[in-house]
Amino acid sequence: MSDERDIFCKIIDGEMPSDKVYEDDDVYAFNDINPAAPTHILVIPKEHIASLWEAEENQAELLGKLMLRARDIAKEAGLEEDGFRLVLNTGAGVGQSVFHIHLHVIGGRDLSWPPG
Ligand code: IMP
Repeated sequence: MSDERDIFCKIIDGEMPSDKVYEDDDVYAFNDINPAAPTHILVIPKEHIASLWEAEENQAELLGKLMLRARDIAKEAGLEEDGFRLVLNTGAGVGQSVFHIHLHVIGGRDLSWPPG
């Protein structure tokens, strides 16, 4: 398990600044500091989960909520017509750099498939 007080924990607690786009009791969302597309929002649980590898069965409802809020945030960002992509990097080998599970909501430009 990674450090329980990672950078995203500090953003949730207001110890680090963020460009917040959504918050409820369980979920926090903010614009990515280094956007890969015109819309690039990170959607995270307030509860610390280092990555999908560490997620437990009793967190299934929270993970489902994360996905539904990501959809709502994408709609709010105007991506309903053209669609959007959810990315969940899991492990440093595929580019996970912050070990607090997060969904990338990416859209607003053409996205190739398969991803690089
Ligand atoms: P990962 O590579 O899937 O772990 O994604 C981490 C993301 O967090 C990257 O897209 C970074 O640009 C983003 N990021 C890191 N620090 C901050 C921050 O302080 N504010 C907003 N986004 C951040």
